[in-house]
Parts: sequence; C-alpha cells; structure tokens
Amino acid sequence: MKGRRIRIHVEGAVQGVGFRPFVYRQAVALGLSGWVRNRGSSVEIEAQGLSSAELVDRIRDSHPPHASITSVHAEDLAAIEEQAFRILPSRPGEDVITVVPDLATCPDCRREVMDPTSRYYRYPFTNCSQCGPRYSIVERVPYDRSNTTMRGFAMCTDCQREYDDPLNRRYHAQPTACPTCGPRLSLQGNTTSGDPLQLATEALRDGQIVAIKGLGGFQLLVDASRSEPVERLRERKRRPHKPLAVMVRDTPHARDLCFVETPEARLLESAGAPIVLLTRRQGRLPEVLAPDTDTLGVMLPVTPLHLLLTQGFAGPLVCTSGNLSDEPICTDNEEAVERLGGIADLFLLHDRPIRRALDDSVARVIDGAPQLLRMARGFAPLSLPVREGRQALAAGSHLKNTLSLCDGGRIIVGQHNGDLENSLSVDAMQQTGTDLQEFFGVGPAVIACDLHPDYASSMYAREKELPTVAVQHHVSHALACMLEHGLSEVLAVVWDGSGLGPDGTIWGGEFLLVDRTPSGVVWRRIALLKQFRLPGGDATSKETSRCLAGMMWEVPDLKGSVPNPARQLLERELNSPVCSSAGRLFDAMAALTGLCAVQTYEGQGASRLEAAAVAEQSEGYHLSLAGGVLDWCDLLLAAHRDATSGVPAGEISARFHAGLASGILSVAMDSARKSVVLTGGCFQNRLLTELAVRRLREAGFDPVLARRIPPNDGGISPGQLLAAMEGVSNVSGHTG
Ligand code: ZN
Ligand code: ZN
Ligand code: FE
Repeated sequence: MKGRRIRIHVEGAVQGVGFRPFVYRQAVALGLSGWVRNRGSSVEIEAQGLSSAELVDRIRDSHPPHASITSVHAEDLAAIEEQAFRILPSRPGEDVITVVPDLATCPDCRREVMDPTSRYYRYPFTNCSQCGPRYSIVERVPYDRSNTTMRGFAMCTDCQREYDDPLNRRYHAQPTACPTCGPRLSLQGNTTSGDPLQLATEALRDGQIVAIKGLGGFQLLVDASRSEPVERLRERKRRPHKPLAVMVRDTPHARDLCFVETPEARLLESAGAPIVLLTRRQGRLPEVLAPDTDTLGVMLPVTPLHLLLTQGFAGPLVCTSGNLSDEPICTDNEEAVERLGGIADLFLLHDRPIRRALDDSVARVIDGAPQLLRMARGFAPLSLPVREGRQALAAGSHLKNTLSLCDGGRIIVGQHNGDLENSLSVDAMQQTGTDLQEFFGVGPAVIACDLHPDYASSMYAREKELPTVAVQHHVSHALACMLEHGLSEVLAVVWDGSGLGPDGTIWGGEFLLVDRTPSGVVWRRIALLKQFRLPGGDATSKETSRCLAGMMWEVPDLKGSVPNPARQLLERELNSPVCSSAGRLFDAMAALTGLCAVQTYEGQGASRLEAAAVAEQSEGYHLSLAGGVLDWCDLLLAAHRDATSGVPAGEISARFHAGLASGILSVAMDSARKSVVLTGGCFQNRLLTELAVRRLREAGFDPVLARRIPPNDGGISPGQLLAAMEGVSNVSGHTG
C-alpha cells in the first residue's frame, strides 16, 4: 500500500479516552497503513495511503468526546512498504502520568444495561473505553488493568475478546467486566435472601436509609419525596440544615423538580456528572431537603448501579456523602459498616475496591457558564499546563481543603479533602498528599501553605522539613483565578469568611491589584471593607448577632444599642479580633433581618439572606469609598432603620446585595484595571455575583469568575502553588 505517508502529533488530553482505537478505526476505514501509539503526554501517528490527509481532518473534527485536543501537527515522510495499521504499545519510559477522572456511564452502556438481550443486562458494573471508573481505581501508572483495583478480576473469554478487539468499544477498557467475571453486589443488614438490588430498592420504598458503595465512596440514599425519612437521615447524620442533594433517573425528572436551562442540562449529563445546583420548583419536594435556599442540588446516575436504583425506585432519592457530619467519605466495606452503622439501615456493597476517596462534585451555571464549587469525582485530578516550573506542593486551606502539586510542566489540583476540623479529615488530607506525590512522581523542592500557622494544612507543610512559602489567603484566591484564565494583571475582589492578613488582622473583604511579572507575583491591597471587631472571636462564626454587635459598635448612632455580653468584650477589646470580612457582613445582616440567629453550617445566614431577597430591584444601600476603605456605616444605619420600621427582610436583603455590588464597582472605577476577578466564598452567592458582574460589564470592565477551580477555599492550593513557583512579594500600599 503506497501513497502519501505522514507523521501526526496530537497534543492535549488524549490518553485513556479511547483515542488510539478511534485513530485505528478511522485509519482502517480510510484504507491506510501505519501505526498509532502514546508518546509522552501526546499521541503519535504514522499513516500512509491515498487518504492520509483525511485522517488529520477526522482527528480534528470527530475525535472521542472526552479527548480535548490542543494541537495537531502533521509532517511528510517517505513512503515505505507496509501492509496494515496497528496500535503499538508505548515505549518503555515514555508512559506519561495522565489519568482521566472517573466518567459517568455513557449512552451506549446505558442502553446495554437496559437491554434484556445484552449480556450486560442489569449489570451494575458495566463500562467501556468511554465511561466507568478511572482515577478512583488506579493504583499506579501506567493505566493498565494490572495497576487498578480490577486486577483481582480475571477477564472471561467474552470480555477478553472485546478487550483485545480494536474495533470494539471495550478495546483496552481497563475496568471492563461482566456478570460472569466482574464485581458483584452484596447486601448487609438484611437477613432476607434475594437480589441485593431488588431488596435495596424495596428498603428505600419502605423509607429506610441505604448506604451504597458508589464510584468514589459510600453514599447515603433515602426517599426524597417524604419528610420523615429525610428528617431521620438528618438526625442520624447530625446535619440539621445543610442542603442535601437528590439523584433522579434523567433530565426530564430533574425538570419536574427544578428549572433546567440548556447549559444546566449539559452539565447534568456531562461525563463528570456533578451535583448541579438548580432553582427548584416550589412544592415539589419537602422543604427539609434544603430549608435555607431556593435551590436544590440534583445529579443524574453516575454508574449503572445508580441507574438501576433510580429506575427501580422511580422517584427522587436523597444522595449524600457516606459520612458523619464533617468526617471524610467512607470507601471500604468494613469501615463503612462500622462508621455508618448508626446511620444506615442497610448496606449495598460490592467487591471492587476503591483506591481513593472521591466525593461527589458540585457545580452550577452562573453568568451562562459552568462553575465548579467542589472538585472531586469526575473532575479530579485537574491538570493545567504551566511554563517551566520546579516541583512543588501546596497544602491548601483549612476549610474545603485541596492539595496541588507541580511536576515541572503542569499544575495538578487534587480532589476535595473536606474541612480539616477533625483527625479523620486531617488523615485524609495527609494521605492525599502522599498519594499525589507518589502517583505523579513529584518530589517537591518547596511547599506552599497559608499564612495562618495554625491550619492543619500549614502544620502538614512545615512537618516536611523542606523550604516553605507562606502565601496570604486572599492572594491565593486571586492567583487561582488568574492561573485558570491565564491573566497577568487584574483587580481581584476577594470576599470570603476569613483569612489571616500580613498585618495580623482577619481579612475577607479585599481589593487587591495582582500582577504576574517576569520577576514574580507582585500584589498590593488598594481597598478593603471597613474593619470591625468580632466580639467572642471564633464564637461569632456561629452566633450572627455577635457580628452585628461588632459592626454596630463602629456606628456612633448604634453603638449605644449594642447588648451584653458583646458590649463588655468590645469595651475592653477582649477576645475581639479585628476583621474586614465580607462573610461576617452577611452574617450580621442575617441577624439584623431576623433570618438566622445561630448557624449550624458555614454560610447558612448568607444562604437565607440570598434566598429571601425580593426579585424586584430596589435602590441599594450606600457604601462610601474614601482612603481605600469601603465604608458600610451608612448601609448599616439605613438597614437598621428599615428593620426597626418593619421593612420586610427580603427588601432589606435586596438593598444590601445591590449596595455591595455598587461598592465593588466604585473600587473598580478607582483601580484603572480592566479585568476584575470576583472570587472567594462570598461569590458563591449568585445574587451578589450576578449584580456585580452586570454593574462591572455596564461600566466597561471585564468581570472574571472562577470556573474550573472553585471560587471557595477549594481553590486556595493552586493559587498558593503559583505564588511559590513564581515568587511573591507585597508592595505596601496605603492600606498595608
Ligand atoms: Zn460506556
Ligand atoms: Zn466477563
Ligand atoms: Fe477563602
């Protein structure tokens, strides 16, 4: 076979997604000879024949859906004698450490699982080269079956035939399995014998709580359409109010419960299959699922197991992490039965081990595009190319911890490890650290951590006996967003609950100019929310009235009304740290409006405040900007007057949000920067974010939101890492 011979280099995320079989099929269809193989992180192809150029077009235009191509380069070679097209193994030492996140069941596999004539009919572990477990089961690279937790399952002859056939969609699908040779379900906690799936479905109909072993860890399921079982789950899980997600069988069922626009449907149905925050239709499901918000987290079946359960149950199911309160998610059968024994009535187990714990990811659509709020199953690990950088590790934040590392050519962001509030979570974070370094073969030369020395993550960084770089929390937030969008010069509006500032006060309402220059990152705070004291320190994060008291203390007309015990603390400046936190401002407003006195989870007051806001936009309360201080005294005075004269909470909330958005714009006007990054936990608030985006855009700015890296503290570690790699310095402005 002669004709033109070309060599093609394909760069991008092209491994572990059925790319080589795709090339093979196209080459065979075009009558070409040659070969394809993985090389480094790219794919290399030599193709010869009359239609070899057509192959390049097909690679560009119709590559597998989970591959993302950054470049295709072709060059001419001399033709050789050759008969067939082959898939070659990669050469030793050229395996690159790329691992694809776990992928939700693809439409082809879904069809087979529902097809009574298929050998995969009702098989809960069906997968193919386009779907199934990946990162959750890989023990080491290269990504071969023998290096996954599937190594204990010897393939039957039918599976082996499919695995070996380049024209089959299970060609080299490492986790492939069937009812004859693959993992099996079992039930614990029920003495009745029978089909585990059937019995679990019946238990759910009975209102029982069922723990199931999902893809990246255990999940707790219960009937979502009745209050009583949900309340029982909340009580046992010690989670009184925090929103619970539900799983439904498909998008039309999601539409029954919530408003689903096209980008939201796309997100729900994506291979990452995250929990998607949707605006819910009133009266469809019990309030107890998410009593503080008008949204509901909804996800579609991730695996055939979930598909079979949701189809069998035929209604929405609560689907929440298999853990107690703030503990990490369980992954091991025995551990789950022990730790979740007090919560679940029944355990639906299986015998495919989970290598790493991956909680469900959370995402939403904002300003027309997806935004990740928790990066875990289906999205982790995230890899972002960087210019030459040394090997480094970043220990992340205290809440919503993630770890990131640089292997020299890219930044890899690990999965959500949770809040480091208990020893189990700290253990999980440390395990992730060891795992990431081993897995990606990184021996860090430097470790980045938060400026706060007491975070468990900062202590973890210091234990390593390597040089550490402590990076200011809000600078890290800003850098994560700049990294993601490739920006080098921004005004970053970083608003969140708290982070230690270099001046020893608590920051959280910051306006930073951040530049990535050839000699490193340079930042300067140009403005901040007016500072106030938090009488009672840590206690203020639960008792919102203390935040309010601290703010009233700053306003001469309100100072006299500050009650005890806050008054005594403030008078003596006892246990009353100074903050500029926007998050605490929301807490204070939740107290002022009577919407939330005591918070059972972080951000509860802010959630209620946002949900209460009336849609009709009223004039915002006024914030004044002078000397780099965005002053909320007028705002508080006006809101206080409104509250005492009986203005509804929803009206006050709307004016509060609108006032903040105008305040952000006023600082942007002063900054002379076109790109304005809006990040930090407060920008999980949709109303605030959308108002600020609109105001900024109308005034000619380019507002920038976190998209693939979360705006909350899950994004701290990549920002820290960038600072440590590029170097960071603070050019003192007038506000420090
Ligand atoms: Zn599939
Ligand atoms: Zn088999
Ligand atoms: Fe933060």
